[in-house]
Amino acid sequence: MTLIAPYDPDNIFARILRGEIPSVKVWEDDHVLAFMDVFPQSEGHVLVVSKTSTARTLLDIEPDVLARLIAATQRTARAVCKALDPEGFQIMQFNGEAGGQTVFHLHFHIIPRWADRPMKGHGHAPMADAETLRALAGRIAAALD
Ligand code: 5GP
Repeated sequence: MTLIAPYDPDNIFARILRGEIPSVKVWEDDHVLAFMDVFPQSEGHVLVVSKTSTARTLLDIEPDVLARLIAATQRTARAVCKALDPEGFQIMQFNGEAGGQTVFHLHFHIIPRWADRPMKGHGHAPMADAETLRALAGRIAAALD
């Protein structure tokens, strides 16, 4: 698959945004949705997506929509850090299949890190159970400013 391609309206995040498949929400507004990654690379792995953009990659998104999305990512990362007290965190964003992207609706990953806990590989983490994700999402949502 090439880097530049049409947006597939049936990609998994578009389906989550339409409520066709479930997700564990952290927070949302009219513009963005933050939800738990169901294959978390570390405890508290959150994804942040635009609700209004059909950008596949960072190349496609309108700058004003990107500004909202990255501000939402920062807000969510602050809550993740307040709730879970990691020693660090990573913001990840993959573009194109060769760039490691697997879901072609632009998104940012927030991955909390602890020095003594190895991170699971991207695309190699086991599925988390919904109850665990709901508990984490509740703690993160309660820490939002
Ligand atoms: P990408 O590889 O595109 O940067 O990241 C896609 C992310 O979506 C991966 O971290 C993967 O674990 C996550 N993911 C894939 N399918 C689902 C799903 O059905 N629900 C949720 N919440 N996350 C998903």
